[in-house]
Amino acid sequence: MKNILITGGTGYIGSHTCLALLKRGFNLTIIDSNINSSSLSISRVKKILKDEYYDEKIVFFKGDIRDKKFLDEIFLNSIKQNNRIQGVIHFAGLKAVSESLFQPLVYWENNVYGSICLFEIMGKYDCKNIVFSSSASIYKNNSLKPILETSEIKPCTPYGQTKVAIENILEGIFKTSSNSWRIANLRYFNPIGAHESGLIGENPLSTPNNLFPIVCRVADGSICELQIFGNDWPTNDGTPVRDYIHIMDLAEAHCAGLDFLFKNKPQFINLNVGTGIGTSVLELVNKFMEVNNCRIPYKYSQKRLGDLPFVVAENKLITSILEWRPKRNIEQMCRDGWQWQKNNPNGF
Ligand code: NAD
Ligand code: UDP
Repeated sequence: MKNILITGGTGYIGSHTCLALLKRGFNLTIIDSNINSSSLSISRVKKILKDEYYDEKIVFFKGDIRDKKFLDEIFLNSIKQNNRIQGVIHFAGLKAVSESLFQPLVYWENNVYGSICLFEIMGKYDCKNIVFSSSASIYKNNSLKPILETSEIKPCTPYGQTKVAIENILEGIFKTSSNSWRIANLRYFNPIGAHESGLIGENPLSTPNNLFPIVCRVADGSICELQIFGNDWPTNDGTPVRDYIHIMDLAEAHCAGLDFLFKNKPQFINLNVGTGIGTSVLELVNKFMEVNNCRIPYKYSQKRLGDLPFVVAENKLITSILEWRPKRNIEQMCRDGWQWQKNNPNGF
């Protein structure tokens, strides 16, 4: 079975994707610096799978993608062990959008330079299949219409700019290498929730900034009140609308993306990964309270700088090209996310 390198594989999306890939039989080489994660997530993934058979299918190396020597050794060893890395899912990166506004150089250095190191070593070892974690934050959507892959790209934060830069670098590699690479940029909308077991989930090591982990912490009492950023947006209830997607649906999109790349000719493709369904902040909060029978005290506060009223995917391209469609609804996202938070209030 194919060996896939997962950078950032112990993180939130990485750990859920590792689980989905292992279920599909792939061998995994995981690397992570653990700057925002714990390698305990791998033990939990194995616990969910409940089978020693999987022990041999995962190897983990703690290290940084900016360390080319480290990357080189991993690719070389995979060849020596007759388990050549044939594809990469590249999650490793810093992702705190607001932090990137204050520390742009840290984001450019980690995300863009790190990616350059990775692509260079991939090229050296003739590994030319990659799924890259891009983001809906690259779009500038001031309208109330779903976003197409061809919609305007104009990120308003250094974080989003690093994602565009990496997509552009990959496009350049594709065009200048006689079109020999297979590249899929998956532009995620808002992943939330956790695996239904409650054994793995989002584990931000610093104070969370995103809505869903904050809602979970308000529910368990570790944050006393949710602040909803603005209630006079041009939406039905005045709060901003997002396209929340269950983390396991997102994980499965990576499996489908890899399958697609391996089965098809070299290409460079951008795909929105969302449900196509918009949910407002207020709707999410009310659904969370209803499904989990708990209270989320909230108050309205000032709008957050750079926020957008409506960020929802047009997902026709991904659902027509990949053998994938989102299966889990907002109730399940709220239930599974809360189950993880309740059972693991301090993370792993
Ligand atoms: P995460 O922080 O849980 O995972 C990222 C992982 O990368 C972490 O485990 C971190 O330790 C590791 N990492 C960071 N820099 C590294 C480096 N230089 N070398 C090695 N490891 C490094 O975040 P996530 O939510 O799982 O996001 C995964 C990817 O998806 C990121 O690239 C993120 O930008 C992107 N993304 C996330 C979201 C989201 O809402 N979670 C949305 C769009 C895109
Ligand atoms: N949000 C909020 N209070 C918070 C965090 C977020 O009202 O404490 C809102 C935010 O304004 C946005 C939505 O929740 O409209 C989703 O925010 P998040 O940061 O999770 O995702 P993004 O804005 O990056 O899509």
